[in-house]
Amino acid sequence: MLSGSAVQGAMKKRERTPVRSCVACRTRRPQRELLRVVLTDKGPLLDPGRKRQGRGSYICPDKPGCWEEKKLRRFAGAHAKDLAEALALLFSKEAPNTKVIVEGGQNG
Ligand SMILES: [Zn+2]
Repeated sequence: MLSGSAVQGAMKKRERTPVRSCVACRTRRPQRELLRVVLTDKGPLLDPGRKRQGRGSYICPDKPGCWEEKKLRRFAGAHAKDLAEALALLFSKEAPNTKVIVEGGQNG
């Protein structure tokens, strides 16, 4: 009995990694490495959880140069400034200008 039809069903699982381009520097990177931004009627909306519906765009979260207003203007137009500020806020883990209010002591 020679019915040796050994079909090697090697199902290769291709893990498809969605690749997106950063709107600022146009670098192509895996989607999960980028921050999603959704353009809404009111302007761009940061969507770190990628849960918002709508047309998503992507920005490098690790390149401060990509958060500059002038680089975002092509993408966000008049909202570029707001977006730049929102990005800076989101990514600055420590508030740069921590205001420590010290009330004046009781001096005689
Ligand atoms: Zn970028």
